Amino acid sequence: MKDLMTIDGLSTKFFTEEGNVTAVDDVSFQVREGETVCIVGESGCGKSVTAMSIMGLVEKPGGRVAGGSIDFQGEDLLQLDQNTLRAIRGNEIAMIFQEPMSSLNPVMKIGEQIMEPLIVHLKMKKKEARLRAIELIQQVGISRPEQIADSYPHELSGGMLQRIMIAIAISCNPKLLIADEPTTALDVTIQAQILDMLRGFKESSKMSILLITHDLGVVAEMADYVIVMYSGKIVEEGEVVELFKNPKHPYTRGLLKSKPVMGQRQEELYSIPGQVPNPLTLTPSCYFHDRCEHCMPVCRSRQPQLQETGSGQKVSCWLYEEAEVHV
Ligand code: SF4
Ligand code: MG
Repeated sequence: MKDLMTIDGLSTKFFTEEGNVTAVDDVSFQVREGETVCIVGESGCGKSVTAMSIMGLVEKPGGRVAGGSIDFQGEDLLQLDQNTLRAIRGNEIAMIFQEPMSSLNPVMKIGEQIMEPLIVHLKMKKKEARLRAIELIQQVGISRPEQIADSYPHELSGGMLQRIMIAIAISCNPKLLIADEPTTALDVTIQAQILDMLRGFKESSKMSILLITHDLGVVAEMADYVIVMYSGKIVEEGEVVELFKNPKHPYTRGLLKSKPVMGQRQEELYSIPGQVPNPLTLTPSCYFHDRCEHCMPVCRSRQPQLQETGSGQKVSCWLYEEAEVHV
């Protein structure tokens, strides 16, 4: 598979009154053509900021990409001017979010909102765009598409709105779809339908998906390749089968242990003790050390590097470094 996007050394900072926060810290990974890469981790680990950095959307909330490159089909997205980026966004790279309401215009009819990218990016005439919009509504599994096209967002359920967001996202046949917790707000049945649909589109159009989720059930369903993030850094990555079979980083193991199993009651569910550290007070160390049952002295004073392990995974943990430090 050919590389579609190569992210190299991406760092994104936010400037707050209390100090500077490195939300994404030297992150590198690839998305290949037709592949689904999942970024997984608890909230506050830099997953969404990674996606926002790709989309060029970190400046509004007070952030800045401080380093690295994002090569998309041979062009560094970080070097492009706003106009060129806007032409790529929604066209070649589309994005869906957890809250469809936040991306839809409440006073604009659904049909018109689907028509907009068709008119802007594909230069369709209004009539043609309307017909295509109705087709798209049908494609995302909604019946009575004409009636839906003439409705306003508040008239539809959350599941329907998310389908509409997908219709908008796939309308221009993007090469890459970035989906940030797309099913988190939905009940399990609708969630399964939406994931099925995304998989179907991926297969028929060969698009790649970068899927951000805290839910390992979703990862198991969808991912080819998995990236585990913690406190802005990648702590482990690998092919999905290998990573689930043989998780190496104590954080990945904790996440897998806390994944609900069918029939298990909520109160029996394991959760990793402690919480993600305050990004303002990070010291050179393994950022997971406070929560890790294998913590050694070296873990508190030096940061482990992400490195290959024999099985093709990469992991950043002193347990897998050379023996010299295990004293
Ligand atoms: Fe645990 Fe140390 Fe590995 Fe961090 S580096 S995950 S503290 S063993
Ligand atoms: Mg998020």
